Amino acid sequence: MTKLQNIIIKQKYAAKMQKDYPLIEKDAVVDKKLKLTEGDLLRLMDEQNKFIGIGYYGSQNKGIGWVLSRKANEKINVAFFANKIETAITHRKALFEDPETTAFRVVNGEGDGLGGIIIDYYDGYYVIQWYSEGIYSFREDIIKALEQTVEYKGIYQKKRFDDKGKYIEEDDFVTGERGTFPLIIKENGVKFAVYLNDGAMTGIFLDQREVRQAIRKRYSNGAEMLNTFSYTGAFSVNAALGGARMTTSVDVANRSRAKTNEQFAVNNIDYETQQIVVEDVFQYFKYAARKGRLFDLVVLDPPSFAKTKKRTFSAAKDYTELLKETIAITKDEGVIVASTNSSAFNMRRFKQFIQTACKETQTSYSILEEYSLPSDFRTLRSFPEGDYLKVVFIRIKK
Ligand code: SAH
Repeated sequence: MTKLQNIIIKQKYAAKMQKDYPLIEKDAVVDKKLKLTEGDLLRLMDEQNKFIGIGYYGSQNKGIGWVLSRKANEKINVAFFANKIETAITHRKALFEDPETTAFRVVNGEGDGLGGIIIDYYDGYYVIQWYSEGIYSFREDIIKALEQTVEYKGIYQKKRFDDKGKYIEEDDFVTGERGTFPLIIKENGVKFAVYLNDGAMTGIFLDQREVRQAIRKRYSNGAEMLNTFSYTGAFSVNAALGGARMTTSVDVANRSRAKTNEQFAVNNIDYETQQIVVEDVFQYFKYAARKGRLFDLVVLDPPSFAKTKKRTFSAAKDYTELLKETIAITKDEGVIVASTNSSAFNMRRFKQFIQTACKETQTSYSILEEYSLPSDFRTLRSFPEGDYLKVVFIRIKK
């Protein structure tokens, strides 16, 4: 049985939370010694005893829990969760009805009023991601709510709450019928092979849907394309379908070769005609520069933070350098698609990295297009850090 605990929030934090800020930050609680258990329901009050909301305790890297309701008498039960999921679904109606796109986000955490939980749709299957033990303790109610609200073939889950907030490896099947994998989903008519029960990742990052389409429709025809940090090569496949003369996908992970071959194959592209390089991107830059290889289109989509044997990459610290090395192997009038999912800096800062990199390499540039999260990744205006994706299409002039 979950307890409902009164907790008092420091005035500074309370003011923000009264204005719809959904996160309970670690330092927001007045009583440092208060003993809380994962999944405790919290009645959040300010220091003047004014009600803020009902939340839950669930420790994750961002904070110690989320506000779930602004109503003092709200019951957090199956009906509550079903109502949130129903509302979330109405916002994705166009995607559910689009036969050319069969994978997208259905519940985007706090953006849909359910901080700590994400639900994605993959052609009849739902994948729930739990970001804390606290939210996981509500799993029975949440799964029941989902089952009441949608028709599904099967439900899978990812627990992302080991000591370091990482994925816990186990059988991720929850209920319904088991899928056969790869499951072939479509995104704007392009196919992708996905695996719902094979570790933390499924094979595709759904937040780049619009960027992939832009690359395919407007930037690929006839292009020599380089895709760095390519993972399963989703950008490369779109470039090839958009008429790229050749794509080169570079990723340091061994698995990337077979995964990328597979994505080409399901789209009837002969992967032997494309280049896949398993190597550190920074090594590849050196190699390409030495060989005088130049590209018309380069996609940069590094992780926010990555450690390889040779170096540590941090988007916040190293993006400018990454851009400088990219500019060196991009043709005059070529296009660089600079992307980041780091919430450590905003679009303004990101554009400063671009400006600095161009200035230091004496390159002029113009910005062609900009993207943030697509609409199925709903965000709150009161919580800008949730709006993490930043993508800028740059044309460079050498
Ligand atoms: N752009 C991809 C997603 C990138 S995920 C997509 O559109 O699907 C980040 C990838 O970066 C991982 O596959 C990881 O193996 C790779 N990676 C991390 N550090 C790297 C490095 N130094 N060189 C090459 N690849 C790297």
